[in-house]
This record gives sequence, C-alpha cells and structure tokens, in this order.
Amino acid sequence: MSSDGHPPIFRGGRRGVLLALSSPSGAGKTTLSKRLLSQNPDMVLSVSTTTRQPRPGEVDGEDYNFVTVEAFKAQIEAGEFFEWAEVFGRYYGTPKALVLNAIEDGRDVIFDIDWQGAQALAAQAAEDTVRVFILPPSLDLLEDRLSKRGQDTPQIIKDRMARAKDEISHWHEYDYVIVNDDFARALDKLNQILHAERLKRSRHPWLNGFVDALMAE
Ligand code: 5GP
Repeated sequence: MSSDGHPPIFRGGRRGVLLALSSPSGAGKTTLSKRLLSQNPDMVLSVSTTTRQPRPGEVDGEDYNFVTVEAFKAQIEAGEFFEWAEVFGRYYGTPKALVLNAIEDGRDVIFDIDWQGAQALAAQAAEDTVRVFILPPSLDLLEDRLSKRGQDTPQIIKDRMARAKDEISHWHEYDYVIVNDDFARALDKLNQILHAERLKRSRHPWLNGFVDALMAE
C-alpha cells in the first residue's frame, strides 16, 4: 500500500501495450502507424536499426537508425537487439532498451516489424504483445501502390511481391487482421484494438491489491 492507502500502481496505472504491426510492403502499415502515433501522443514508435539505404524523405533516427553492416553486426555481438532479422538481404533489428523499459513504465509501443519480429516479441513478452496484421484488399493493388511509390526499382518491386506472399502466409499467427481497403476505417479499427487492449485485466496489476482492499472493507 502507498501512503495514500491506494495499491501501488505502475506509472500510467498499467502495463504498456506492445503493438506489433506487420503487413506486406505497400499495404499501408507505415502510414497507419504514423497516424496512430499522432492520435495517441503517449505512444512511442520503436525505431528499428537497419542496414538498408534511406528512401527519399526518410530521416535517420526517426524512421530508422541507418547503420553499416559492420556496425549492425557489432550491435548483435553486444546483445543490443531484442530481435533482429534479415529481410531482402538487409538487416533489421529492434533495439532492446526501449522494449524492456516500456512495459513496466506503462508506455505503449508500436512496432513496424515483419512476422519474424512479431513472433520474437510474442515469444519473449507474450502477455504484453498484441499482434496486428494489415492485409491489402488485393495483390494487384499492392503492386500498383509499390510502383506508384516510385521508391524501388522494378526488380526490387518483383522481390517485394514474392516476399509479400511469404509475409501474408503468416496472417493466422496474429491476434487481429485488418483489411486496409479504406484508410480511415482501417485506422479506426486500429484505434479500437489499442483502446480495448489498454483495458485488459492483465495490464492492470494494481487491481489485485485494489480488489483485496475492497473485499477487506
Ligand atoms: P522496409 O525496408 O520496407 O522499411 O521494411 C522491410 C520489412 O522489414 C518490413 O516488413 C518491416 O516491417 C520489416 N522490419 C522493419 N524493422 C524491423 C525490425 O526491427 N525487425 C524485424 N524483424 N523486421 C523489421
């Protein structure tokens, strides 16, 4: 019990939600996560580290930490990643510190990661992780979006389409699946998932002491 007679609680009153968002490239996951973050100012983005080149408009330290292969391998050796994976021949990793601090600080974190990263999160933080998969309404539309994005060469787009099917094959491992046929509706669903998950009993350990005190009255 704290001095005011209330059960001790985590900052924010609860454990943080680790929201792992996955989708094939071009299904709108990055735009959705940015909008979710802007609508939920207490939430933070897990900025991954990668060895791929920045795309036009991407900012080092905001979209990714862009590093060399040598630097990435040194970070693996130093145990600095919560999880890491090789995607399209490039390395991607989730820095450990933010994840470990966030849960008990009651901070919600969004992860823009592939199925391998989502699996690793769920394996290591099962109670706290919520996995959401974003599906495109069709593969044609996905290819169209990737071409219009104008950020990748035709060969890379071909590789991404092959990779998209592989990513989609993991859809059933996720807690929620959203078909992004309408951006506003998909964003609304994502918000509903976040808000419901924040209320989950397991995220409110203070309830144990609270109910004990209630019953002892
Ligand atoms: P992109 O190069 O298009 O930004 O990302 C390629 C893929 O890597 C996407 O599916 C993205 O979600 C995934 N990815 C980005 N960061 C990480 C990470 O830290 N870990 C894992 N496992 N995948 C990541």
